[in-house]
Amino acid sequence: MNNHTVNEHIQCRLMVIGAGMAGMAATLFAANRQIDTVQVGVTGEINFASGLLDLLAVHPIPSGTLWDNPREAVRRLVREAPDHPYARLTMDRIESALEEFTSFLKKVGHPYYFHSGRNSQVLTAVGTAKTTYAVPLSMHNGSIAYKKRLPCLLVDFEGLKGFSGRQIAETMKRQWPALRHVSLGFPDVSGEAYTEHMARALETESIRAQLADAVRPYLKGVEMVGLPAILGIYRTRDIIAFLEDALGLPVFEIPGIPPSITGLRLREVFEDQLPHRGVRTFYQKRVLSAHIQKNGSFLFAVGGGEPEVRITADAVILATGRFFGKGLTADHREIREALFDLPVFQPDCRGQWHRRAFLNPGGHPINQCGLETDEQFRPLSLEKKPVHHHLYAAGSILAHQDWIRQKCGSGLAIATAHAAVAAFERATDNEIDASATG
Ligand SMILES: Cc1cc2nc3c(=O)[nH]c(=O)nc-3n(C[C@H](O)[C@H](O)[C@H](O)COP(=O)(O)OP(=O)(O)OC[C@H]3O[C@@H](n4cnc5c(N)ncnc54)[C@H](O)[C@@H]3O)c2cc1C
Repeated sequence: MNNHTVNEHIQCRLMVIGAGMAGMAATLFAANRQIDTVQVGVTGEINFASGLLDLLAVHPIPSGTLWDNPREAVRRLVREAPDHPYARLTMDRIESALEEFTSFLKKVGHPYYFHSGRNSQVLTAVGTAKTTYAVPLSMHNGSIAYKKRLPCLLVDFEGLKGFSGRQIAETMKRQWPALRHVSLGFPDVSGEAYTEHMARALETESIRAQLADAVRPYLKGVEMVGLPAILGIYRTRDIIAFLEDALGLPVFEIPGIPPSITGLRLREVFEDQLPHRGVRTFYQKRVLSAHIQKNGSFLFAVGGGEPEVRITADAVILATGRFFGKGLTADHREIREALFDLPVFQPDCRGQWHRRAFLNPGGHPINQCGLETDEQFRPLSLEKKPVHHHLYAAGSILAHQDWIRQKCGSGLAIATAHAAVAAFERATDNEIDASATG
């Protein structure tokens, strides 16, 4: 919910631009430090997030080497790719960031499970095992089931596109022969079924009971039950507890049908909680223009299509993402940063954006483009100096990383957001000290 009126002029200490993983994390960290913050961004992108928090699973990219211990993976990455944003962070920083982020989620009813600091594997809707770091508790049983290859029943639903128990079991049959599947009608749905509708329906106890009744006849010889990630938006823990009680077996969610309910859960939590923590939020609005004023502060015009609000800020965290989030745009010649026209690290010409083979295992040079920063996560000018003493960047807009192939998306977004907020806080403290002594 937006907590503002239109046609106003707002002032704040910190403006966070972006409402993806990096923007939400930066805003949370700023709010936790009582920094007067405004956040602007369309929350659509987070709807696609699987809910899994990757730290680092793959390095080097061309060999696709998977790591069990993400800390060792980060150490090796930083040694071999010193420009990667993780090289600007200590392991302590990365861990504190994830700890603060997941503590918040736990407090508001969305606990995560860490496998003793190791990566774990989660079964996905396309029948692959995805290596990740922290999993929503609703998926944790699935990791155990996969590790032990337990006999499990996969339940899918007539009319639900993108999730087929049969296909998962078929794809996995060599490595996990004990997978079985059943296709059921979802209570109260005829025709096409939609994840959000199903998730909301399961918030009602009678629908949960009908679902349990429908699954119960298929449990012979089964030790766990896997369902698509549709088990509620606000009461997932209650729904799982209900189903486990009714079925007498552990239940787990399987991620991966976009737009994903796990992403929607995160979105709802942040949209609901951040305003309660003093943040002024402008969700579903965009920053339409950005200027650095003579006195060094930033001036933004914000609105749906037309400018509705002007915002002045002392500092900015740019968490606008790459092409998907629209933080970067590409024309027939070059890649540009969309708001401040900051220099973008990129190949010399368009012909070098992609390698010849589309499925090249090393990825493409365009997958490493973005903003180069100093140690404080401040974007650099062409002269390699910070563009502004209080302009910071976080998340996938940063250069020298390929979060999709390296499987480090959320970890990178959360840890760089933490570092950017900490850098701003430190700079502010220094300014206060300087003015007190000067
Ligand atoms: C399909 C999908 C699957 C994923 N799966 C995983 C996974 O398995 N594991 C994992 O760890 N992470 C996963 N993620 C999350 C991913 O890690 C993060 O989304 C990614 O790191 C990028 O986050 P970001 O916040 O930097 O950018 P984005 O998510 O791209 O967000 C950018 C934000 O900036 C906003 N913005 C851009 N321009 C403006 C403007 N002018 N004004 C206002 N706002 C603006 C956009 O509206 C958006 O809110 C997944 C994401 C997607 C999309």
